[in-house]
Amino acid sequence: QSGAQLINGNEIAATLRQGISSRIAETRARFPRFEPHLAILQQGARSDSSTYVKMKLKAAAEAGIKCTVVQLGGPEDGVGENEVMAEVERLNADSDVHGIIVQLPLADDIGRDGERRITEAVSPEKDVDGFHAYNIGLLSSRASEPLFAPCTPAGVMLLLESTGVDLRGKHAVVLGRSDIVGSPVCAFLRRKDATVTQCHSRTENLEHLVRQADVVVAAIGQPRFVPGAWIKPGAVVIDVGTNYIPDATRKSGARLVGDVDFDSAKDVASFLTPVPGGVGPMTVAMLMENTVLSAQRLLEKSQQR
Ligand code: NDP
Repeated sequence: QSGAQLINGNEIAATLRQGISSRIAETRARFPRFEPHLAILQQGARSDSSTYVKMKLKAAAEAGIKCTVVQLGGPEDGVGENEVMAEVERLNADSDVHGIIVQLPLADDIGRDGERRITEAVSPEKDVDGFHAYNIGLLSSRASEPLFAPCTPAGVMLLLESTGVDLRGKHAVVLGRSDIVGSPVCAFLRRKDATVTQCHSRTENLEHLVRQADVVVAAIGQPRFVPGAWIKPGAVVIDVGTNYIPDATRKSGARLVGDVDFDSAKDVASFLTPVPGGVGPMTVAMLMENTVLSAQRLLEKSQQR
């Protein structure tokens, strides 16, 4: 074993972005007014969510996608769940908007339940994050395709596909059970005929399970939690984790690491994603992909009228 091949997320995402740009250009050649439009609802300006919003704005601009950030006030401005909901309804009804994202977290007074209600208020036809229960249900069901698949899990699947490894019958161990990463990744892997074990913070004998995995997807948010010693030689390892750890040698004082201990894992895995430069760039690219898909779908629908 001479070490893992690195899966280059930057390169794969760049190819994806090129495809998106040329699809927009082709459609525009036939329909000059075609302009995919993504609306992002943001409440307050938490610096971490602003970083994500900035990444989305940059990617949209590069792809030729219009992106509007609807900046809402907080409770101090009299903006609560009802006001956010009204904004979602307005965007649902706006035929120039093809994708709607509710940037989480919203203000504390809205709470988890409120966030869920607002996410569910987004029209499933504009749910480019793929977070609506309707789309989650379709992804999880064997007999149907979702209108939109969630972006990070869809990116994980493209990275897996890039390895050329056939997932059929393979044992995939997924660490994490969030609605946005762990659970949809499991749904995707099941669709590819993998045998899936899903782990979470209550899982017993985690190490024992990971040791049996042909494919490991780690999405737990615990820096370098999975050591190379747990990884079966030749396994494919996808590291979704993005964790900042202190690093005095960096100007920022911090460094980004994954949920997998890269240095020890690279000696045992057959394929491995680096952090950064693995899953990260795929997420935003898939969001652009979903936005263009939605714009094309809504265009087709309007042609049929
Ligand atoms: P959540 O915090 O929503 O979920 C974490 C999951 O990991 C939970 O299911 C939790 O279990 C489980 N977990 C936590 N600690 C352990 C442990 N010690 N052993 C086993 N399971 C554990 O996180 P997300 O799913 O949103 O994100 C996961 C990671 O992926 C984070 O690092 C995040 O930053 C990153 N991420 C990266 C993206 C990208 O584009 N690269 C996009 C989205 C996320 P339980 O359910 O029992 O609490």
